[in-house]
Amino acid sequence: MSQTVPGLPGAAFLECGATGATFESERLIGLSPAGKPLLARYDLEAIRDRFTPAAVAGRPPTLWRYEEVLPVRDRACRVSLGEGFTPLLESPRMARSLGVRRLWIKDEGQNPTGSFKDRGLCMAVSRALELGARELAIPSAGNAAGSTAAYGAAAGLPVHVVVPTDTPAPILAEIRALGADVQLLDGLISDCGRAVRQRCDEAGWWDLSTLKEPYRLEGKKTMGYELFEQLDGRLPDAIVYPTGGGTGLIGMWKAFDEMEALGWIGGGRPRMFSVQAAGCAPMVRAWERGLDEAGTWEDATTYAAGLRVPGAVGDFLILRAIRESGGGAVAVPDGEMEEWVGRMGAATGIFAAPEGGATAAAVPRLREMGLIGAGDEVVLFSTGSGLKYVGMEPLA
Ligand SMILES: *Cc1c(COP(=O)(O)O)cnc(C)c1O
Repeated sequence: MSQTVPGLPGAAFLECGATGATFESERLIGLSPAGKPLLARYDLEAIRDRFTPAAVAGRPPTLWRYEEVLPVRDRACRVSLGEGFTPLLESPRMARSLGVRRLWIKDEGQNPTGSFKDRGLCMAVSRALELGARELAIPSAGNAAGSTAAYGAAAGLPVHVVVPTDTPAPILAEIRALGADVQLLDGLISDCGRAVRQRCDEAGWWDLSTLKEPYRLEGKKTMGYELFEQLDGRLPDAIVYPTGGGTGLIGMWKAFDEMEALGWIGGGRPRMFSVQAAGCAPMVRAWERGLDEAGTWEDATTYAAGLRVPGAVGDFLILRAIRESGGGAVAVPDGEMEEWVGRMGAATGIFAAPEGGATAAAVPRLREMGLIGAGDEVVLFSTGSGLKYVGMEPLA
């Protein structure tokens, strides 16, 4: 149906993130034939004159304000609960305690289901609806399942989720209340992923796994555009991002590419820092060893559910963005995440999930490593609300 709809340009084509091979964008498609993520490419030349910061400035405060660089063509297929354009809050007290010039927190806990997974899933669900998917499925460490349940419900599409048995209780309650079919599995998100894949092949469900379809990335990239708008047309020196599957980090890097091609920014870019849990740090290990791919982390343990991702299909894209940006990767133990959730909360009024605490905990380490300096303006991503982890205890 999408081709007959005038209005929004949508993606021009899809490109394999590994081989550069190109594919048509107007049908449901998962990974490239090489088994790698597909990236949506737009005809940026064609929209350059009308998609400008000034044109966007007066639009409603959701991520749909960037519609010219989003894949949904038919506005009627948008499934929205008010996601995106979350506050970017400056904290001089946090800046002082972390020893940096300026410190901002992007409060993603204010998304509709309390985490930034809403950005990706609103886009992937909208696009799946547009392209004719009938039932949706997702493996998740928790928050992605909550988002899928929410957007599936809003779209009127059935949702099946497979989550680990140790998923936080508030997230399970949410998924059930939103009407999704839940299967609990005694294992990690990677085991859940295999279970979902099998059911998708058998039952024709559409698999919304991280980076295994092209559009969650497109929703997540809007964080890059928002930073630019919310900082009055500049980007910070450093971005500290709690990394599981890495969609947000890869997405922001892609947004910066697009913004440069559109003439919004010059060649200068923030340094991208990936933070992981000491008990599950495949990107940190690969970055320290100078590898292009991360492989799989054995026995992943951390109470930060979003960081309990032992292997990421977009590993090479995460590592590429970190390196090209001059950034780095660092691991923090659960106890420090917990400690910084408290310090950040007391200093700012933001009740962050442990993943957000991890970004603050990373800064003293990055300062010590000489990767972040006293003169830097830094953005931390508080990716979810602490309310979704109530009852969870830090490990080790
Ligand atoms: C999923 C999740 C992450 C990790 O995000 P990726 O983009 O997959 O790396 C971080 N924090 C929270 C709260 C999450 O739910």
